[in-house]
Amino acid sequence: MKKIYIACIIVLIAFITLRSNFSIINKVDNGKNTPQSVQTSGYREIAGNIQTGETLFDIFRKYKLDVNELFKMREASADLHRLRDLYPNRPYKIVLDEREQINSFTYWINDDTILSIRNTNEGFCAEKIAVQYEKRIEYIGGTIKDNLSASLENENGGLLLALQLSDIFAWDIDFTTDIRKNDAYKIAVEGFYLDGKFRKYGDIIAAEFINNGETFLAYRYEIDGKADYYNEEGKSMRKALLKAPLNYRRISSFFSKGRKHPILKIYRPHRGVDYAAPGGTPVSVAGDGKVVFAGNKGQYGKLVIVKHRNGYKTYYGHLSRIAKGIRTGRHAEQGQIIGYVGSTGLATGPHLHYEMRVNDKPVNPLSIKIPRGKSVPGKMMADFIQLKKEVNTQFALNKSTSFALARNSTLPDSK
Ligand SMILES: [Zn+2]
Repeated sequence: MKKIYIACIIVLIAFITLRSNFSIINKVDNGKNTPQSVQTSGYREIAGNIQTGETLFDIFRKYKLDVNELFKMREASADLHRLRDLYPNRPYKIVLDEREQINSFTYWINDDTILSIRNTNEGFCAEKIAVQYEKRIEYIGGTIKDNLSASLENENGGLLLALQLSDIFAWDIDFTTDIRKNDAYKIAVEGFYLDGKFRKYGDIIAAEFINNGETFLAYRYEIDGKADYYNEEGKSMRKALLKAPLNYRRISSFFSKGRKHPILKIYRPHRGVDYAAPGGTPVSVAGDGKVVFAGNKGQYGKLVIVKHRNGYKTYYGHLSRIAKGIRTGRHAEQGQIIGYVGSTGLATGPHLHYEMRVNDKPVNPLSIKIPRGKSVPGKMMADFIQLKKEVNTQFALNKSTSFALARNSTLPDSK
């Protein structure tokens, strides 16, 4: 079954990532860090972000505010949100009236909810308010450079966008081993704004990814209340089998826990495919199916075999361990973790042995063509094509290398 084990030894490895244009997120958010005191018509405003270790009590003392008011505020909001639990970097605002008494206090519980406490005739009154964002469509893009993962990992918004992107194309592109230098992407994504300032990204509306010279396009479209991504022909991006058993999102969250994010390597010394990856890297099942084997099997070591529809089977060998709940007879869902990379059986270093068979005949998982799932229904096609045209026009206007920082080409610059 396997001949060249040397090749499977882990070569440690540089980093890949999406390029640095995601840094805009940080830049946009920075303006709020220093507390500001603004005076308007007798009312005074104190606004800033909660500092690490800072309590509301600290803030009251710092600005010489009436601590008795703080106790009343605490009581008023006790059922909604404990004022003792304020988190660092969350914005707050205190408005004082002419007599330097608290008029109102607002605090961002999270990105979508504000705690508002107002001083009324009946005393303090607290409520939670849903944040009303203004939604704009952002067009951003860039090219893949190596050694970018490190910078990306520090930027939450950027990482989330990259993960969204990898999810959309997971049936076509192996983001763990098959990303090349100068691969390029364009993204149309919801940008959420508040008072003209960018706050966060929402869903990706459409995306283009050029991988090794091949262009993939995906458009978000809602059918019967369920949004999903469709290609240029209106066919679902989904397929019965994922492009690779090592999932970029799974791996990213695994390596974000203080471990370095490696570039994984792929080898084909035999009829399967070997993915060199650090021991413990999570392995995802390529498609929905039934586990038909989970245990030790000779040279395979710890092995899971999953049977899919249409005579497909996938094999995952040399696992260090098999995931909980993965047992013969059990159902496995596409993308679910079925085990972890190891070197059990006949293997000189940790790697995943991945094999695919059709009617028990081995096939090359890297070149096999898997058909796409459902299409946009005929009666909605005209609408879908309209959406596609709009996005394509914007994509054509913007070269991925040049519009990275051009936040929205149709609306005034917010910064
Ligand atoms: Zn192998």
